[in-house]
Amino acid sequence: MKSQEIRNTFLEFFKSKSHTVVPSAPMVIKDDPTLMFTNAGMNQFKEFFLGNSVPKHTRVTDSQKCLRVSGKHNDLEEVGMDTYHHTMFEMLGNWSFGDYFKKEAIHWAWELLTEVFKIDEKNLYVSVFEGTDDKDNLPLDEEALALWKEIVPEERIIYGNKKDNFWEMGDQGPCGPCSEIHIDIRSEEEKSKVPGRELVNADHPQVVEIWNLVFIQFNRKANGALEELPAKHIDTGMGFERLSMVLQGKQSNYDTDVFTPLIREIETITKKEYGVSEKTDVAIRVISDHVRAVAFSIADGQLPSNTGAGYVIRRILRRAIRYGFTFLDIKEPFIYKLAETLSNQMGDAFPELKSQKNLCENVIREEEQSFLRTLDQGLIRLENIIEESKDGKVSGKKAFELYDTFGFPIDLTALILRERGYDLDQEEFEAELKQQKDRSRAATQITAGDWQELTSVEEEAFIGYDELSADVKIARYRKVETKKQGELFQIVLNKTPFYPEGGGQVGDKGYLEAKNGDVVYITDTKKENNLIVHFAKNLPENPEKEFKAVVDAKQRARTAANHSATHLLHQALRRILGDHVEQKGSMVHSGYLRFDFSHFGKVTAEEIEEVENFVNTRIKEQINLEEQRNIAYQEAIDQGAIALFGEKYGDSVRAVKFGESMELCGGTHVQNTGDIWYFKITSESAVASGIRRIEAITGDAVKDYFSEQTKVLKEIKGSLKNSKDPVKAINNLQDENAELKKQVEALLKDKAKNLKGEIKSEITQVNGVNYLAKKVDLDAGGIKDLAFQLGDELDDLFLIFGTEQNGKALLSCYISKSLAADKDLHAGKIVKDLGKYIQGGGGGQPFFATAGGKKPEGINEALQQAKTFLE
Ligand code: ATP
Ligand code: MG
Repeated sequence: MKSQEIRNTFLEFFKSKSHTVVPSAPMVIKDDPTLMFTNAGMNQFKEFFLGNSVPKHTRVTDSQKCLRVSGKHNDLEEVGMDTYHHTMFEMLGNWSFGDYFKKEAIHWAWELLTEVFKIDEKNLYVSVFEGTDDKDNLPLDEEALALWKEIVPEERIIYGNKKDNFWEMGDQGPCGPCSEIHIDIRSEEEKSKVPGRELVNADHPQVVEIWNLVFIQFNRKANGALEELPAKHIDTGMGFERLSMVLQGKQSNYDTDVFTPLIREIETITKKEYGVSEKTDVAIRVISDHVRAVAFSIADGQLPSNTGAGYVIRRILRRAIRYGFTFLDIKEPFIYKLAETLSNQMGDAFPELKSQKNLCENVIREEEQSFLRTLDQGLIRLENIIEESKDGKVSGKKAFELYDTFGFPIDLTALILRERGYDLDQEEFEAELKQQKDRSRAATQITAGDWQELTSVEEEAFIGYDELSADVKIARYRKVETKKQGELFQIVLNKTPFYPEGGGQVGDKGYLEAKNGDVVYITDTKKENNLIVHFAKNLPENPEKEFKAVVDAKQRARTAANHSATHLLHQALRRILGDHVEQKGSMVHSGYLRFDFSHFGKVTAEEIEEVENFVNTRIKEQINLEEQRNIAYQEAIDQGAIALFGEKYGDSVRAVKFGESMELCGGTHVQNTGDIWYFKITSESAVASGIRRIEAITGDAVKDYFSEQTKVLKEIKGSLKNSKDPVKAINNLQDENAELKKQVEALLKDKAKNLKGEIKSEITQVNGVNYLAKKVDLDAGGIKDLAFQLGDELDDLFLIFGTEQNGKALLSCYISKSLAADKDLHAGKIVKDLGKYIQGGGGGQPFFATAGGKKPEGINEALQQAKTFLE
C-alpha cells in the first residue's frame, strides 16, 4: 500500500463512521501563548476542549502536520539517530467532542488496524492506565481495561504508569488516561527469544507505539486538583510514517515511500550510499527529515529568522547543514535542491509545497550559504581557542560563546576537539547553557490562576465590526503573573466590541465603565484559543455589575485606515510587479503599516511611485467597503478572494472587498477608501532572500511626515544660505570637498617623504640595533607606511612611534623580522606592555603591532621605556 493510500484509507474509514474530514491546521500556531508549533493533532481543537467555542461537528477526522522540536515534546536529538522519530510528521486522528467515548474509540481503532489494514493482531500490544497513589489518587482505568479484554488476550495488555498513560495538555486544562497501541515488527526468531511485551516502552526500534487513544475526562485546575468534565472527549493520534512502515513491511520509517525519494536524491547529489555506514546513514536521515520540517514551515509562511518560531526553524536547517558538512563532506549548498523532490512527492496532498517551491528553494539556499560561511569562520575561531587552551582542556565558556554568539554547533566543536586530542569542559558549557535557558524561560513565564466564572456564556460574540461601544457583562476573569508586566487580569465578556490582535492587526485599547463611574482600562486585546481576552491592570470593584465597554475610537480609525491601505497595497503590488507577489506577513498598527511579500530583487523607485499612485487613485475614487461576513470559503475563492497560506480558515469566512481588491480577512476596515486620506511608502527593504518589506503610512501620519520633510528641507536651505537650488548647491559642495581631499592627501604624502628623511637621520645604534622611539604627527596608516618603508631600507630595525589623535594615544612598534626572531622580540607583547602608560592595550604580530589608549600624556614615558626591551 502506497502511503498516499494509507492516509486516504484512514480518513475514509472514519468518514464511514460519520466523521467529517477536516484539513490539517498550519504547523505554526498563532493564537496560543503556550505553544509555538502544532505538536499534536489536538492543538487545533483546543478551543473546544477548553469550552471556548462550540464545534460545528462532534465527530472529526484529519491528518495533522506536527513538529516536535521545542517545549514539552522535543524529539530533535533523537531524529536521525533512531528510525522512528521525526521532527515533522503527520498525525492521523479521530475526534469526539462530547460525542462517543472509550467504547467506540477502542473498537474502531482495533477494527481499522486488524480488519481494514489487516495487521496480524498477535503483533499488537495495548496499554491501560494503572492508576496512581500520588496526590491525584486515580484508580486503574477499569472501563478501558474491560473493553480491551473483550478483544485482546490478557497477555498482550500492559498496565502503564502516569508518565506513559496519563495525558495532559499542560500544567492546567483538559486531561485524562490513555490507551496506547504498540506494534512488534521483529523477526519470528527474535520474538521467540524475548516476548514483545517486555520491550514495550523500552525504546526498542522494532517495538514502537503507533497509536495513542486519549480519553479526556478531567480538567486540571491551577492548584493541581482534578475535576470530572461534564462532556467527555476522544483525542487519538497515530503516527502516519510509523503506520506506513508497518504496512509496507519495512523496519524503518526511512525505508517507506515517504522518505525513499528524498534519500535517493541525497545519494545522487552527495555520491554517498545509504545503508553502508552508520555515520553517513544518520546524516542522510537527518537531512531527509529536516528538509521536510523546513519546507513545510516555509510553505506555511514561517521563514527562518533570529527569534521565536523562525529561530527554531533556522536551527533545524542548520543541524541538517552541519550533518551534510561533516559527514557527507559537502561544503556547498545542496539541501535546497530537495524541495523539488518533496514537492513532486507530496504536492498532491499538500499543494502549498508546490506553489511555494521556488520560495523554499531560495530561502533554503540562502540559509545554507550563510551558515556554511559561519562554519568556516567558526573553524578559525575554534583554532584560536585551541591555541589558547592549557593542559589539553578547552574552556566551556569559550565553546558556549562560539555556540551562542556565532551559531557554531557545539557537537561539532566537541567532535573536532576529540579528533585533536583535546577535552571540552562539558560541565562548564552545560552550566552556561542552563543559565541562558533559565534567563529566557523566566522572561516568558506566565502563571495563570483558575477562571472565575460569573455569567455562563456559550460563546463570546465579537460585535466590533459594527459597534465601538456596548453594554456588556463580564463572563469570566482570572489573574495572571508575567515577568515582564507583573500582575494582570484577563477578562472575558459576554460580547465585545474590542478587536483582538490577529491577522497582523494590533488589539484594541479602551475601557470598561460601570454605572457608578468606576473605570477599568483595557490595555490590550488578544485571542487565545479562539477566546477574546481583554487585559487590564486591575479589576472593577463589582465585576458582577453591567459595564459599558468602550473602544478607543481614534486609534481604531487609524488602524482601520492602515489595514484597508494594506489591502490596496497588496493589490497594487500584484498589478505592478506581477502575480508572483504573495503576502508573507503584515503588521497593522495605528501609526504605520508593514507588509512583507515575495518578490525577487529590489522594488525600484519608479515602481514604488507607481504603487503609491495606484493606491492613492483608489483612495480618490472613494470606493465603498463591501463586506460578506459569512460566506462559504469556496464561494469567496471563486469570487476571486485572496487567501493566505498558513492561515486557519473555517468553512465560512469573511471577505473584504474594495472594488477589485478582495481578501479573506477578519480585520477592521474603513467604510470608504476616501477615509484613508493619503498613502505614502516610507521604506522598502529586504527581509530574506526573495522576501521584500514595505513600510507605509496613511492619513494624519502622512501630514506629519510631509511637515517634517518640509522642515528639514527648510533647514538645509538655511545652511546653504537659502540657495534657490539646494540640490545643485550640495553637488557643488561635494565636488569641492572631493578636490580638497585630493589636495590634502598629496600634501600628507609630501610631508611623510620629508619626515622619512628627517627620521632616518635620528636613528641611533643601541646594542647593534638600529633604534628610534619618537612622537610623530601622522595617522595610523601613515605610521605603518613609514615604518615599513624604513624597514625596507634598513636591517635590524626597532621602531616605536607614538602619536596623539583626537585626544587618544596610539603606539606602533616595528621590528625587522630577522631581528624579532634572533633576539626573541615580539612587537605585540611590547606594545601590550607599554600600553599601561597610555591606559590602554593592544597587540599584533611579532614584527608589527599597535596599542591604543585613553591617556596621551603617557606617550612620552612609554617612548622612554621602549629602550629597556633592547637591554
Ligand atoms: P514515543 O514514545 O514513541 O515518542 P509519544 O508517546 O511521544 O511516542 P504521542 O505523543 O502519544 O507519542 O503521539 C501519538 C503518535 O504519534 C505516536 O503513537 C506515534 O505513532 C506518533 N509520534 C509521536 N512522536 C513522533 C515523532 N517524533 N515522529 C514520528 N511519529 C511520532
Ligand atoms: Mg515522544
